[in-house]
Amino acid sequence: MVSIELNKVTFSYQDGAEEPVFADFDLRITAGEWVAIVGPSGSGKTTLLKLMKGLLQPQAGEIRINGSVLAARELNHLAACIFANPENQIVSPVVAEDVAFGLENMGLTPETIQIRVEEALRYVDLYERAAHFSHHLSGGEQQRLILAGALAQQKGCLLLDDPLCMVAGRSRAEILNLLKDIQARESCTMVHSTHLLEEALLAQRLVALDNGVLVFDDSPGRLLQEKELVNQLGLEVPAIADLGEMLARRGLVEPDEVVTLEHLLELLTVPGCTQDNEKIEI
Ligand code: ADP
Ligand code: MG
Repeated sequence: MVSIELNKVTFSYQDGAEEPVFADFDLRITAGEWVAIVGPSGSGKTTLLKLMKGLLQPQAGEIRINGSVLAARELNHLAACIFANPENQIVSPVVAEDVAFGLENMGLTPETIQIRVEEALRYVDLYERAAHFSHHLSGGEQQRLILAGALAQQKGCLLLDDPLCMVAGRSRAEILNLLKDIQARESCTMVHSTHLLEEALLAQRLVALDNGVLVFDDSPGRLLQEKELVNQLGLEVPAIADLGEMLARRGLVEPDEVVTLEHLLELLTVPGCTQDNEKIEI
């Protein structure tokens, strides 16, 4: 597991530009946390993840990983990163080879590579497709392949940059479930940027950026209560969150609780809460 600390980080793409993307930016992420980063397009989400991965260097301030300031090359060893567009990240024509590619670069033995590739492909439910052409996979399957590649590296940190932006429908739900499972089972720090509140609500902590400024840092449920901020950030409140608010008004859930489908099913099966054919009035 990896802790990440940004202290007074200033970064701009053009050195000396009038307005840097980040100025004196502070953020601390504890080892094992799942933090969602939300914010409008251009607010700095991708830049922040690239700084954490060591793909960009701050002009001022420092980034500490597990308490130490590391060289970019060392940062690269600690975190696996996934970007939005699957096609740009698939490097091998064959599914299993694509997962193996990153592991070969890590200098692992062929035996270890084989074991890890198999494990990771089973985990994302692509094992049956191991010998298939990567470009024959659907968008959702390609994103799962990239996730397998990142998981196989078994690094203590997973950085996900809008991983579902090219994925729709059932594939989206499948990948979201996988992310929940990874966080629950693996001891892995996860930083996950997204433009969708629905995705961000799954995380333990939500950080919102607006124009490179941290405007919110608390539990996802709390953000739902900040209606003006949600509007300002251009985020769409998922229908299930509206339902959660109605249930909170009835005292059926806590006001800052994020209501999930699992929650609702639990509520509906609590004895005394509903009886056959009786509707909950909200
Ligand atoms: P987000 O991921 O939230 O959409 P980005 O981190 O991509 O935001 O962008 C933050 C700011 O940095 C934006 O103003 C964007 O135009 C600028 N920017 C992003 N990438 C580059 C780049 N390669 N060169 C110059 N400016 C960039
Ligand atoms: Mg981005």
